[in-house]
Amino acid sequence: MGNSVKRALISVSDKTGVLELARELEQLGVEIISTGGTAKLLEESGVKVTGISEVTGFPEIMDGRVKTLHPNIHGGLLGVRDLSEHQQQMEENGIKPIDLVIVNLYPFAETIAKPDVTFKDAIENIDIGGPSMLRSAAKNHAYVTVLVDQQDYAQVLSQLKHTGEVEASTRQRLAAKVFRHTAAYDSMIGEYLTQQVLEQQDVTSQGMESSSEAQNLADSELVKEQYHTEKLTVTFEKVQDLRYGENPHQKAAFYRLPQAVPSTISQAEQLHGKELSYNNINDADAALSIVREFKQPAVVAVKHMNPCGVGIGATIEEAFDKAYEADPVSIFGGIVAANRVIDEQTALKLSDIFLEIVMAPDFTPEALSLLQKKKNIRLLKMGEISAFTEPFSRYQTVAGGLLVQDQDILEIEADQLQVVTERAPSNEELEQLLFAWKVVKHVKSNAIVLAKDGQTIGVGAGQMNRVGSAKIAIEQAGEKSKGSVLSSDAFFPMGDTVQTAAAAGVTAIIQPGGSIKDEESIQEANKHGIAMVFTGVRHFKH
Ligand code: 5GP
Repeated sequence: MGNSVKRALISVSDKTGVLELARELEQLGVEIISTGGTAKLLEESGVKVTGISEVTGFPEIMDGRVKTLHPNIHGGLLGVRDLSEHQQQMEENGIKPIDLVIVNLYPFAETIAKPDVTFKDAIENIDIGGPSMLRSAAKNHAYVTVLVDQQDYAQVLSQLKHTGEVEASTRQRLAAKVFRHTAAYDSMIGEYLTQQVLEQQDVTSQGMESSSEAQNLADSELVKEQYHTEKLTVTFEKVQDLRYGENPHQKAAFYRLPQAVPSTISQAEQLHGKELSYNNINDADAALSIVREFKQPAVVAVKHMNPCGVGIGATIEEAFDKAYEADPVSIFGGIVAANRVIDEQTALKLSDIFLEIVMAPDFTPEALSLLQKKKNIRLLKMGEISAFTEPFSRYQTVAGGLLVQDQDILEIEADQLQVVTERAPSNEELEQLLFAWKVVKHVKSNAIVLAKDGQTIGVGAGQMNRVGSAKIAIEQAGEKSKGSVLSSDAFFPMGDTVQTAAAAGVTAIIQPGGSIKDEESIQEANKHGIAMVFTGVRHFKH
């Protein structure tokens, strides 16, 4: 059953396309009701409009906070057309039906994205009347058509022109869109207010006498604020359906948060190549997480979510050389992320190997035209790739449930390290230890990384025992392991890893410490003149 449209209410913040729509509706004989700014625009362009105040018998008050929140509006939207009691109540109260609602909301996302936004601005940009009308119309979609997205204007108009009615299936689709939209809008406001609370508590905690007092607050209230809610509603919007999931028999799609998180795979601009696959997106995310750890030019090659080569250097070309040479076998079919613009020389080298994706802040025109010659490579322009400064949530599903935690963005400085051996690391060793520590954080546990001269030379990932990972890393490094440093994502449960490392010629080790058998590892290190430092934090990644 279709619905014909006699009265439409238009109230939009983003006025794109609304004049053309209103003109067409007017031609179809539809009465147009409208609010302040929208009415002004339409009237000035010669469209006949009934002002909202004429319908409500009430002025628009409180700077627009109360415009459409009135029974004459919501009754007109919610009244069930074929229920005689509703019809009678409408007549008794002088409520006339509204058949079509065209609303888009105050621009909350754009407002909070402004660098100089004030809290007051943010609050004023929380739309109340708009979502209410959308929800009323959407609830009553059996009789009312609701448009929240400009993309849908044409379809509704075309149906009205051809049949004088909007199809039931269209109305239901549009209603579903409305509820998805208002849910996303509200969750964005919720996130913003939560973030504000956290920032205020940060300021408060800075003024506290003791850091443990601040820590208690952090432990109890901050964590609770974010995660210990009874119900968690997070809305993601669909980016695209994917051809398949991890394997061809699995259906899959990619969703992102409605608010943009810069320089993430969700925001990448694809300059060339086939559509990203499920595994591409996962691997690209892993590669970006690693490369953003570094301030100096850095290149990361990733395979199956683990780095197979990481290099830092004075130029992006040098960084690439190191990432490549770290493991010239595994990089084949891999994903490369760089934190500087790809220049022509680097592009030449990249085009020599088979790669799934190259990601960088940008590509020089020469580099781009060179790489675009390769049909199978995907090129992603990321904009500036820098460290995450705020902990944001990471979600992982388990069958029948969801795990939530902060992204692991903890960084460590040299002065936070505790030297536990007779020998302290030299400056050069210290630099390499910190490099290896940044990488090991992103390797699947149990993780061991061997590094030398700003280059990973061995990566042991995902083994069920730590010494197993160490053996893999050492074997891969071969002769290069002599004079290298070793990082471990978690403590050594016994002395065997240090023993294996010493035999391979490792000279310095970084690890969290905290095992009951730390002493065993320390003694082993001392026996071989190895310098070992504890970080006091671990970086499991499963
Ligand atoms: P206009 O530019 O027409 O004055 O305002 C349009 C905007 O006002 C739309 O984004 C609509 O969602 C919003 N709006 C409509 N009615 C109300 C209301 O009663 N309260 C608030 N806060 N916003 C409203």
